[in-house]
Amino acid sequence: MNERRKTRQVRVGDDRVGVVPIGGDAPVSVQTMTSGYTHDVDACVAEIHKLAAAGADIVRVAVPEKKDTEALAEILPQVKVPIVADVHFHFQRALEAIEAGVHKIRLNPGNIQDREQVGKVIDACKERGLPIRVGVNEGSIIERRDKQKRMKELGGVFSGAKHGHFLAIMIAKLEEYLEIFYERDFYDVTISAKSPDPTLVIDAYTEISKRFDHPLHLGVTHAGPRETGAIRSVAPLAHLLASGIGDTIRISYANDPVFEVEDGLELLYCLELRERKGVDLIACPTCGRIQVDLFTLVQEVREKLAAEIELPIKVAVMGCIVNGPGEAEGADVAIFAGDRRGIIYVQGQKVANVPEEEILDRLLEECRKFEDRVRSGEVKLGEKVVEILPPDPIGELGSGFEKIAQGQVEKMTPLTIDKG
Ligand code: SF4
Repeated sequence: MNERRKTRQVRVGDDRVGVVPIGGDAPVSVQTMTSGYTHDVDACVAEIHKLAAAGADIVRVAVPEKKDTEALAEILPQVKVPIVADVHFHFQRALEAIEAGVHKIRLNPGNIQDREQVGKVIDACKERGLPIRVGVNEGSIIERRDKQKRMKELGGVFSGAKHGHFLAIMIAKLEEYLEIFYERDFYDVTISAKSPDPTLVIDAYTEISKRFDHPLHLGVTHAGPRETGAIRSVAPLAHLLASGIGDTIRISYANDPVFEVEDGLELLYCLELRERKGVDLIACPTCGRIQVDLFTLVQEVREKLAAEIELPIKVAVMGCIVNGPGEAEGADVAIFAGDRRGIIYVQGQKVANVPEEEILDRLLEECRKFEDRVRSGEVKLGEKVVEILPPDPIGELGSGFEKIAQGQVEKMTPLTIDKG
């Protein structure tokens, strides 16, 4: 992991909803966008509540029509998270959203270009201390022949790059657009340069980070369904974040935006860019040595623990004794299966050996008890108490690994799982 690049911090929010800093030394924040109509006030408020409850730091809403910006006046007093108005084509929507009390504006240089109009939005934001995101999506840079001279120069710089043409357009567009902001002495700007092409996203943000000190809003636009969009998004975002680039992220799926928030947070937790909230669950992928119905067990454990446990307890759910003891050693609470039973450890100490049907309840009980002990100060997270003795796959205790090595594991009959 590289050190995070220093950027000029902007602040989004107010005293009522709280202020989320972006850039500087602030933690990387997670954003998302509502999927319904903003003018459907009750549904919009309900969706914003849902996204904030899932952990979104900032929520963006689309305001394509006047009825949407009018709705903002009703929506904003009801929500408790900073709201960004996403503006395209009509600069008046930005002015109306600002008037309604929105916390940030997103402008697209590809479709609001008139300097006077952009200047009016900047002046209104400056008056109220609101930041603006300049988002140069690849797909909406429609003015492809502008700034010919600068593009030619940049084209030379990027001639060796796979996406040299797009990089040149994006950077020329940003330079041209930001001139309007700097002329007005306005620097509360964040930048995004999204594309559905993950390699272009990496190249674009890398180049932009060398040229501007504004916080960067990372994202892969139109990433598709969650099943494929997760990898499409996380691959470039993880690369950039690990390189120290990126101050706020939005993962975008053709799905419920709650998943965008959950996956964005998980990415930041995995890179240790945010302090984890809730359980850190690891589980084995299963194989021919599986001893219980692990897929069902893991899903049930995940859902129950997400609902009940607030502390970042590390929980391991393992299918057999091959990797079970090793993972259990590194976990606060662990179960590994053997002969259709579950052996449960808490910080390296064996606390139970239960039949398969009792594993879930007992594991949950141990997690709850462990969380209480952490809260009371009796134990600390991540503290290993004793080393785990590998259990005997056949009996209670013994040299399980030796027996595996000697091929004496006939009694560990693999479980046949009907995977549909
Ligand atoms: S823990 Fe056991 S069942 Fe799970 S993947 Fe490893 S060897 Fe296979």
